[in-house]
Amino acid sequence: MNYKKYDVVIVGAGIMGLFLAKKLLTIGLSVIILEKGSELANGPSTKNEGILHRGTYHSYAIDDVGESIEVARKCIYGYDQILAQYPEVFEEFFLETIAIIKDKKNYLKAINRWDKAGVLYKNITYERAKKILPEVKISEEFLYFKIKEKAINTRLLLHTILKQIGSFDNIKILRGVHQIKFIDKFKISATYGDGDGVENINFDYIVYSSGKGTKKIFKEEFNIELPIRVFKALLLVTKRLSKNNVYFLDEREVSIFQHGDKSIIGETKYNKPCLNDEDYEIDDDLKHSLINKVKEYFDFDDKNAMIFCSHKVDYGGENDFHSLDSKLNEPFNNHFIAMPGKMTEAPWLADYIMREIFKRKNDSIISERPCDKFTPDQNISLLN
Ligand SMILES: Cc1cc2nc3c(=O)[nH]c(=O)nc-3n(C[C@H](O)[C@H](O)[C@H](O)COP(=O)(O)OP(=O)(O)OC[C@H]3O[C@@H](n4cnc5c(N)ncnc54)[C@H](O)[C@@H]3O)c2cc1C
Repeated sequence: MNYKKYDVVIVGAGIMGLFLAKKLLTIGLSVIILEKGSELANGPSTKNEGILHRGTYHSYAIDDVGESIEVARKCIYGYDQILAQYPEVFEEFFLETIAIIKDKKNYLKAINRWDKAGVLYKNITYERAKKILPEVKISEEFLYFKIKEKAINTRLLLHTILKQIGSFDNIKILRGVHQIKFIDKFKISATYGDGDGVENINFDYIVYSSGKGTKKIFKEEFNIELPIRVFKALLLVTKRLSKNNVYFLDEREVSIFQHGDKSIIGETKYNKPCLNDEDYEIDDDLKHSLINKVKEYFDFDDKNAMIFCSHKVDYGGENDFHSLDSKLNEPFNNHFIAMPGKMTEAPWLADYIMREIFKRKNDSIISERPCDKFTPDQNISLLN
């Protein structure tokens, strides 16, 4: 059998796969992307709230302080990169985003963590908040902060990255890939399309950025049960409810972000385990909880509002804080599983994997630095 050689196989063309492909192509590697869908990014990467996070929520909401700071910093890294490289994807850049904490006793926890992580915020008064959010029923009892989170058009972002990828010679994208058969750890046969096209691939590295689909690949091909959990998360799409964006930061609250003449609303930290990967049924309790929250803050009467079920995933999470942080695992040498807990972490994960592959490939075009030659455990001391 003839195998075509690629440096890297990327399984899954969501934001993670596309971001990574761009990075790897930039350093001259050859890449093939295998995408199950006939459309690219037909999962959470487009079926989400479209918030470009900058760590405000995650540093506040994740229990473990160290983890919360780390996640926030990765978000800031991704936010800054997307702002610098794709400013056109911001929906309305000059809108205000107001974060609200309902219980004043959480003030110190919030600002301590934000200061530590480098989250940008500005305290504002109730009167100021009322001016920015005249449509929202808020109270003098709450805490208000201006924050940097923005609504982005994720479809435009992904389209732009895809076009950048397309300008390289050493990339191939296969859609409609319905089977990936491993011949050994570095050879696969990918079957795709209606006419059962087959691509036999030999590779040095493989990255699974296939979200919940990664679990099935490992079960079927390696008989390994990965600790990936899948949760339902609902989004409410309605006619625009407020001029500016509102982010209630506490558990079982809502975030309301504006996308043109529509608002997308999600509930914070309230998801339900899926019965199976195709379980998109809209549970009544999830639905009512979301709608009731919206009614608490708005005169909400949009009979045409739409509820949509999307899937969050996490890897190995045993606690309640599923799907908030990113995970990178390497179950076999040079097989990476990349799962960003949010879109904003994809640049950080992509850069990490790119650096790791560059290091391992040990390309000889650019001369080594002294530290590349140095092995810390070599038993020679020049200081004696
Ligand atoms: C309701 C909801 C709201 C969210 N809101 C936000 C938000 O506002 N801001 C934010 O930053 N993040 C948000 N997120 C999280 C964010 O959407 C995800 O973390 C991110 O999109 C994951 O990207 P990904 O590329 O890893 O995975 P995915 O988007 O899941 O992409 C995986 C791709 O792999 C493909 N695939 C699957 N199996 C296979 C296979 N066997 N072979 C080949 N291809 C395969 C899929 O078809 C898909 O295209 C939200 C998520 C949900 C569910």
